[in-house]
Amino acid sequence: MVSIGMLLCRVGIHAWGRRRGYNEYASNVIEWEQRCERCGKRKQWIEVKKGRR
Ligand SMILES: [Zn+2]
Repeated sequence: MVSIGMLLCRVGIHAWGRRRGYNEYASNVIEWEQRCERCGKRKQWIEVKKGRR
């Protein structure tokens, strides 16, 4: 029997765990990384820091 969790992963709904950010003072962006707790898929994105002028 296929678990519901894996089915959700198949259609792109992952169980994203805690996200980790790589914050460099020298740059004005934060690199985020998040992992699915079911299938282990990783996603990464970059966020521009706000509130600094
Ligand atoms: Zn997944």
